[in-house]
Parts: sequence; C-alpha cells; structure tokens
Amino acid sequence: MNYDEFKETYELINRKFEKLQEEVASYKGVTIPYLYYTDFVDYAMNKLGIKFQNTSMPDELADKMSGMLIVANGKKKVVVNKKTHPNRQHFTLMHELSHALLHADLNKSQSFSDLLDDNSYSEDEQLDEAEANIGAGILMANDMALHHAIIDNYNFYNFARNVGMSSSALYFRTRQFLSANFGMNINGYDTIKLTNLCEKYGFGIILEKIGESYRGFFDRRMEERGEKFCDLTILEFNNPYFQRPSWLLQNMS
Ligand SMILES: [Zn+2]
Repeated sequence: MNYDEFKETYELINRKFEKLQEEVASYKGVTIPYLYYTDFVDYAMNKLGIKFQNTSMPDELADKMSGMLIVANGKKKVVVNKKTHPNRQHFTLMHELSHALLHADLNKSQSFSDLLDDNSYSEDEQLDEAEANIGAGILMANDMALHHAIIDNYNFYNFARNVGMSSSALYFRTRQFLSANFGMNINGYDTIKLTNLCEKYGFGIILEKIGESYRGFFDRRMEERGEKFCDLTILEFNNPYFQRPSWLLQNMS
C-alpha cells in the first residue's frame, strides 16, 4: 500500500468508525476518548447481534491462528484464540469486528481466518487484512483518545495499558495516526523518530515537535466534528491539571 492508498483507506475507515464511536459512546454513556474496546464488543453483541466466542482451538490451529470471523445463515460470529496473549486477544476482537463491519456479506457464507504469521496471506486477502488492522487500531485507540494523550502528555506505556494494547501495537498505531493526519510517511525516518520520542518522553512531545501542523489538524477536526467535539474541548478546560498550549486557548475565545 503506498502513501495515497494508505491515507485514503484510513480516512474511509475512520469516517465510518467515527459514526460507530458516536453511537457506542452514547449507548455506553461515555465520551469518545474514553471508549474501551469492550464497549464495542458490548454494542456489537447487543445492538448488532454479532456473537463473540473466546475459545481453545485444536492444537494444530492454536499456534497458527489469532482468531476468525464466520459469516453464515445471516449471522456473524467472532472467534478468538484464548491461547494468545490478552493484549493480542483484545486486538484480535477489534480486527474481527472490523472484518464484520467492513467486509462481511450476510448473503454469503464466508470466513476470515487470522493467522499469527502475516506472510501466509494471499495477495487478495492482504488488502482486507490491512484494512482490518487499520480498523482495529482505530477502535482500540481512536484519534480523539490520542488527541487527549497528546495535549495531556500521557506516558506511552500507561496509555497502552489503559487502552488494553501492547506497546508494539500502540507504536504502530501512533505511526498510523501521524502518517494519516500529518502527511508523514508511515515508514519514514521522521515518523519513526517521533514515535520513538513519544515512547521515551510521552505523547506531549508531538506538540513540541509538530505544533503548527498539529494546530491545523485540531482546527479541521473542530469543523468536521462540530458540537460534539466542542463539548469535549470544554470538558478539557475544566481539568485544572491541564497545561494548555497558548494556541488552544486562543482557539476557544
Ligand atoms: Zn483478518
């Protein structure tokens, strides 16, 4: 996937999932930055009728598979390999849910099998897999959650723990976020360097290093997300521990 393809795919999925985030947030009575992966499982189970099963797989599969989505008889079922690390299981849940929302066709019988070794996919499957991984990252740590992490300078590892992600998954998610929103190449030196700095010093380093482009991003999001996002910002202003960058204060006047 080249940069333009990645950005286009990311934006498409993000737009779709922003609607989902709003629905799930109102269903759970929480704000978007505080959505946790279990909120999506709850919503998918109770509102979308998707079944979830955490299961012991037969030995020959347990070492190869992280999980799968099965579509049959007009129903969707997510199966997760319970032998894998808990953080991996969280990500797999969101990966399979992304397949269910982006790729599943209820008129067909389908299965999306997810392998621990990414190199085992055919070329056709690779695009769906890339999309489901982008989707899972967005559901685990959405853009607004990362925005909070940045303005409040969260510690990288604490944030990973809070959202139930492995630090390597958050590392990749941070690169995606920087790449999709700030025109940085996901595999580029700058992106990797800035992500390494986040890991070392906390997310606030992003403001220090790319403050001007960050402000542009923030303004765009204010326009796009309208009232809901403004409400959120006002909530932030009631947090007495928050050291706000001056441009953010100007933005509110
Ligand atoms: Zn998959």
